Amino acid sequence: MEKIAIFPGSFDPITKGHESIVLRSLKLFDKTIIAIGENADKEDFFSIELRIKWIEEVFSEFHSVSVVKYKGLTIELCKQFNAKYILRGLRTSADFEFERSIGQINKNLLPGIETIFLLTKAEHTAITSSIVREIFRHGGDIQQFIPDKLDISKIDRSKLLE
Ligand code: ADP
Repeated sequence: MEKIAIFPGSFDPITKGHESIVLRSLKLFDKTIIAIGENADKEDFFSIELRIKWIEEVFSEFHSVSVVKYKGLTIELCKQFNAKYILRGLRTSADFEFERSIGQINKNLLPGIETIFLLTKAEHTAITSSIVREIFRHGGDIQQFIPDKLDISKIDRSKLLE
């Protein structure tokens, strides 16, 4: 049976940290589905369409990686795609505490599911989408924090910050 993992998150925007987790997951799973949650509590910075476009660009050579958007429970998405694994990245002990409860609750809701954690690479520990957004908002250069395939100089900043 195919091993399918869902990698849920906001990816607002995708960072080098996310990219690394996805690339490392390719050795573990037959398919990795990046799932952008449309979260009512979180306000988007980059539009869903742009986030999807960027992720497609970054992983265009990897046919086992795809991207979807979703609303609602991650376990429902897992059922829909017959995914038995939820993939998450761990940066800090704070991440661990948060992830532990979500992982345990997801296991209660859908016993067949396993949450798989990959430790972030040391050089990516400090990278968060929210810091990248702050830098961008204030006119700083975010290129070193986002995947090399994305060329930030081609992005029309004024249009995004309207
Ligand atoms: P969420 O709002 O669900 O945390 P994110 O887009 O911030 O969404 O993160 C999605 C997943 O990627 C989470 O598992 C998060 O821990 C992981 N992640 C975020 N940044 C990094 C990073 N720098 N290195 C490794 N994993 C990361």
